[in-house]
Amino acid sequence: RSPASVIRVRNLTVKRGRSEVLHGIDLDIPAGSLTAIVGANGAGKTTLIQSLAGVVPPPKGRVTIGDLDPGRASPRDLTARIGFVFQNPEHQFIAHTVFDELAHGLRLRGVSDADIADRVGEMLTRFGLEHKADVHPFLLSGGEKRRLSVGTALITRPGVLALDEPTFGQDRARADELLRLLGDLRTEGTTILIVTHDLQLVADHATHTVILADGRIHATGRTASLFATPGLFEGAGLRL
Ligand code: ATP
Repeated sequence: RSPASVIRVRNLTVKRGRSEVLHGIDLDIPAGSLTAIVGANGAGKTTLIQSLAGVVPPPKGRVTIGDLDPGRASPRDLTARIGFVFQNPEHQFIAHTVFDELAHGLRLRGVSDADIADRVGEMLTRFGLEHKADVHPFLLSGGEKRRLSVGTALITRPGVLALDEPTFGQDRARADELLRLLGDLRTEGTTILIVTHDLQLVADHATHTVILADGRIHATGRTASLFATPGLFEGAGLRL
């Protein structure tokens, strides 16, 4: 096993209702990578990311994030290690202003008001939301909501950020902008994991790629070498 992996998945089996949708997956996500998970509709991408969050406990197999088992860790310990941005992130918003949305995770941890002001201010600037601090999160544009959800996931400074379809419904320019931002975070040391349908984004931004097909790993490795392998993506029902 690779000592440099930050997420380790061993023989992960997950059922949805009666049917098994992940069939004994083994996977290592390299520390410091921007890893994309791709696969045809229903391949199990969302289920895999939900397993990392402990949302769907595996009947068989094991997931570890650093030294944590997400199925057993407290939400507080887990979110200190890994931040999640699920599909429809606005459903996660709980506060009445953008500032409070970002501050929430810090208040829960008893961070001082001065430190909260600093760290929230940092996030507002980083995600281009400086002028939106007092706005209700639901009044933001789609792209701003997405960026707020990323900021909220990052406010506790987790070493890993996992995002499910973060560019869904956004045009090419917006999608590229978000991926560049994630690339910057990676350069600063955060490991990034994204589920996406957009193979062009993967080719342009992901250091590593995992191809899922029918609940199994079809291929995994460095993005450039996977794209250089003829027929590999097509074999998983994907079109380049
Ligand atoms: P997509 O690209 O369409 O989002 P995906 O690769 O993310 O697909 P999953 O959403 O993980 O795939 O779904 C994997 C399988 O599990 C599919 O066959 C799906 O129908 C099934 N499934 C997903 N969620 C549930 C659920 N809550 N209850 C029952 N079956 C589910």
